[in-house]
Amino acid sequence: MNLPDFVIFTRDLFKTKEYIPLHEPVFLGNEKKYVNDTIDSSIVSSIGPFVNLFEKKLSEFINVTDSVAFVNGTSALHVGLRAAGVKQKNEVITQALTFVATANSIKYLDADPVFIDVDIDTMSMSPISLNKFLNEYGDKREDGTYNKKTGNKISACVPMHTFGFMSRIDQIIEICKKWDIPVIEDAAEALGSKFKGKPAGSFGLLSAFSFNGNKIITSGGGGAVCSNNKQIAEISKHLSTTAKQKHKWEYFHDQMGYNYRMPNINAALVLAQLENFRKILQNKKNLYKKYQSFFTNGKMKLCKIPPSTDWNYWLISICLENKEHRDFFLKYTNENNVMTRPIWTLLYKLPMYKNSYRDDQKNAIFLEERIVNVPSSYVKANNK
Ligand SMILES: *Cc1c(COP(=O)(O)O)cnc(C)c1O
Repeated sequence: MNLPDFVIFTRDLFKTKEYIPLHEPVFLGNEKKYVNDTIDSSIVSSIGPFVNLFEKKLSEFINVTDSVAFVNGTSALHVGLRAAGVKQKNEVITQALTFVATANSIKYLDADPVFIDVDIDTMSMSPISLNKFLNEYGDKREDGTYNKKTGNKISACVPMHTFGFMSRIDQIIEICKKWDIPVIEDAAEALGSKFKGKPAGSFGLLSAFSFNGNKIITSGGGGAVCSNNKQIAEISKHLSTTAKQKHKWEYFHDQMGYNYRMPNINAALVLAQLENFRKILQNKKNLYKKYQSFFTNGKMKLCKIPPSTDWNYWLISICLENKEHRDFFLKYTNENNVMTRPIWTLLYKLPMYKNSYRDDQKNAIFLEERIVNVPSSYVKANNK
């Protein structure tokens, strides 16, 4: 199989001669109706019936007691970390193979990310590497675990479910429980994925989701903190609404909060999106099957769904032979108007994280040089 074949194949898949984006939103149901409702009622901004309804539906969907809607996934992570007790000079365990927002949200609190390697099959945090790090550096005390070398408290662990592939979250939870470290799932990419039948975002002390335009469903921009812990949900809500105490007219803010709540107009959009989740999922599953029949044997390998995962089919990825092959693939496809994208640059290579701790990153480096996302949008029947 060669590259022109791949371009022809994707054009045939999406039935178009035009530019093929990586992941486009799709509006199949009540989106216009609900958004118009917010305009007709003039309740478009923060607080409103669609926000409450969306939070309720989201909680049901991922099987948690509480959800709080945010302006984006990054702000949800930021506040979620603070609600979980992450403070200045703490260390937060995460992975270097992730979108930059994961580490930024840690840094916003003046805490430091600790980059642990990933597994090859899940592309998400490796429990073996996590265990290794904690056995070497962990110092368990009365009030939690500290880093023996730096003396700083390790106040959270943030695994990220890459492209909707589930991390080995049961093992990660078990290890962190032993060390008394709260787990916060960066589930931004994993809405609708499951691990051993349990929804992404329902494992940790809390989880963060994103409803950005490129995610599986969108509110334009948006995010959420989800939790089975009432106190976490309350703190998150409070911090996201400028930490203002409830009062009919007084303005009293009991700490430094943020203006991070999702506006009603965005909640209207994403509520309609959530109603069509199954339809979107089925369509994307069919798309993956078509890719499966295309990538049978050859130098380009379709990434397989890891064990125990019910995947949300968010972004489909392939693994190329080496970096040269990858670069050639990216150049050819993008020059031919088929959007493809490499996985992220490992975060410790970015200027602001160059001094952060990292382990050997063997698997992360392997994946960084080889993984490419291919067009993964919902396939519309009437494309031209
Ligand atoms: C998209 C994403 C976020 C942040 O979400 P925004 O809504 O874009 O702020 C965080 N983490 C990961 C892994 C993401 O993919």
